[in-house]
Amino acid sequence: MASSTIISRSMPFTTKKEINIPLSAPSPISLSKCKGRVPWKVVAVMAPAKSPRDPSTTGSVKVGMTMTEKIFARASERTQLVPGENVWVNVDVLMTHDVCGPGTIGIFKKEFGENAKVWDREKIVIIPDHYIFTSDERANRNVDILRDFCMEQNIKYFYDIKDLGNFRANPDYKGVCHIALAQEGHCRPGEVLLGTDSHTCNAGAFGQFATGIGNTDAGFVMGAGKLLLKVPPTLRFVLDGEMPNFLLAKDLILQIIGEITVSGATYKTMEFVGSTIESLSMEERMTLCNMVIEAGGKNGVVPADQTTFKYLEGKTSTSFEPVYSDGGARFQQEYKIDVSKLEPVVAKPHSPDNRALARECKDVKINRVYIGSCTGGKTEDFMAAAKVFLASGKKVKVPTFLVPATQKVWMDLYGLPVPGAGGKTCSQIFEEAGCDVPASPNCGACLGGPKDTYARMNEPQVCVSTTNRNFPGRMGHKDGQIYLASPYTAAASALTGFVTDPREFLQ
Ligand code: SF4
Repeated sequence: MASSTIISRSMPFTTKKEINIPLSAPSPISLSKCKGRVPWKVVAVMAPAKSPRDPSTTGSVKVGMTMTEKIFARASERTQLVPGENVWVNVDVLMTHDVCGPGTIGIFKKEFGENAKVWDREKIVIIPDHYIFTSDERANRNVDILRDFCMEQNIKYFYDIKDLGNFRANPDYKGVCHIALAQEGHCRPGEVLLGTDSHTCNAGAFGQFATGIGNTDAGFVMGAGKLLLKVPPTLRFVLDGEMPNFLLAKDLILQIIGEITVSGATYKTMEFVGSTIESLSMEERMTLCNMVIEAGGKNGVVPADQTTFKYLEGKTSTSFEPVYSDGGARFQQEYKIDVSKLEPVVAKPHSPDNRALARECKDVKINRVYIGSCTGGKTEDFMAAAKVFLASGKKVKVPTFLVPATQKVWMDLYGLPVPGAGGKTCSQIFEEAGCDVPASPNCGACLGGPKDTYARMNEPQVCVSTTNRNFPGRMGHKDGQIYLASPYTAAASALTGFVTDPREFLQ
């Protein structure tokens, strides 16, 4: 294994490690071959390195802090913190949804009293999104429980749905919680957002500390407005280089998870910086942060900048104060990635770190494509898929399901022109390509859901999906095979019926 460029930085690190990206396979890879790891060669170097010593915890000398440490410090009213400390953190926003909300409410009432009031009716956001468009009575009942509780507590932000037959008849209804949180202005730099969903880390894109918690913790936060949390150490990922036009943020995060594995960031912050990150839109930054939990990360975080502030314009009237890592902040490891050298990747069944180049799986025959979820069901994700369909001028060869994350995304599909498409919208391009009509916005089959969930995998099929998890059973059938991919790769695969590198259509 040979190393290439090693980027040195004047930071307090003493060791360096090479980063690898997949080597192209000399021969086509069959499905069975794809079950193993691919060989590697070094074409870019990340340089993780250990701090020479643990940060000081005593004395009067103030040491630099990372973004996440600073958010923890402010939220716990401390001036200095180091990783590993347990502190009571004041919470700015608590989010829950129809799957975990009823359990959270039950714990809140059990521990604080049947007639107790929530700590702040304006800081709790309740979003039905998971099992919505179903006749499953227990799923429907969960939404009813949320509604009753929100009325009882006069919760300010409850994005209700009553008419399941037509989501557009419900102006308050949003859709997938993580994207709704962003679109409704609940993601603000420097704040603390906790949610009863592991992908709450999505909001780290805004320079916010955002993480998933369990129902018990959420029940406590509901009553007390704070939570005892351990300060995580930070891994810093420096992504530089021009992003090739066939890559999306999904490729970047799958690349990173493939490198550090699904446990590589366990209870750690993943901080993303560098010129490539600065060039990403907010939706792409969300894709990146959304999947840090797939590496075990406590949270992901991107420094707020003009892109962030512009996105927030008109979305919130709450003032916020961004924080940034100090020059002398201590990172447990730092990784450098030259994005210009990367290729489209997928995560093969059944783990998000089971990385392979898309082109190495070109012999993997697929039965369906799914474009949706908080990871891959945003407006830009559909725009990217439409771009591939448009460039090909062909029709899809397998059923292609489209599930917009939110009501706003759904409207964008019908209202926004796709750049370079002569005024055509995504919905027109999808129709011409033979895709299914965009479905009602919700989590859909990302999490399987009740049997009657739209696009649920009820057969042991092979699916290319823009979602974030490919564990056995995740999309419905326990023997289903899920290849996680970018919207570019998903659309290209739909056009061929095989896992396909989008460069076949984009160059
Ligand atoms: S879209 Fe999927 S990953 Fe996102 S919140 Fe819903 S079920 Fe979870």
